[in-house]
Amino acid sequence: MRRNAVELDKMRRAGKVVAEMHEATRAAIRPGVSTMDLNKIAAEVIEKRGAKSNFLGYHGFPAVICSSPNDMIVHGIPSETVILEEGDIISIDCGAIIEGYHGDAAYTAGVGEISKAAQRLIDVTERSMYAGIEQLTKGNRLHEVGRAVETVALAAGYGVVREYVGHAIGTAMHEQPQVPNYWPGSPGPTLKTGMVFAIEPMINIGGEETMLLEDGWSVVTADGSLSAHFEHTIAVTDNGPEIFTLP
Ligand code: MG
Ligand code: MG
Repeated sequence: MRRNAVELDKMRRAGKVVAEMHEATRAAIRPGVSTMDLNKIAAEVIEKRGAKSNFLGYHGFPAVICSSPNDMIVHGIPSETVILEEGDIISIDCGAIIEGYHGDAAYTAGVGEISKAAQRLIDVTERSMYAGIEQLTKGNRLHEVGRAVETVALAAGYGVVREYVGHAIGTAMHEQPQVPNYWPGSPGPTLKTGMVFAIEPMINIGGEETMLLEDGWSVVTADGSLSAHFEHTIAVTDNGPEIFTLP
């Protein structure tokens, strides 16, 4: 779906709120902090900006952020009993709604000093996201995004999660079409100005296989390897991709 200028402006504003949630949570990440502490910080930003959460209550999800440490890929539930420790990595995914329009973005950060292997995973995953974002140009085909993401991740020897993917976004957080982080075998729709997507590679140091934990939300790597996740909400414009979820 193509969004008009008024709609895009609302999404731009929603994106700024998400960026502020990122900045506020990122600044609080240190050993001893719980993932529930990070959730509270993000909730305060939503409240302060007069936004609504698109995570809270989504299929019953109980928080405004997903917090997924170490081998958890996505959808971790914030908890007072999950305390960040030196050397952990933590993926934070969150979103906001302004006047019915959605933003959605994620990042992975280290807690204190982290291993070289963990830092490399974070750097490559972020780079793979930007490689995908660069493909969001008018006239290009959507699945060039996945091809670009996968090229970066596979060159580093990592597993690309296939069971969870990016998506179009607008008046709902998850709209069609989906945006796989791999080449799905066909080029997909032609990109037009006004289309908006959430590009979100989930990359594992080990294999691509995932496992759902008993809480019904938390998705971890099947082999226990570390996983990273980066995401932005981006519009296709006449002048190339415009990232809405940057400060
Ligand atoms: Mg997200
Ligand atoms: Mg998303």
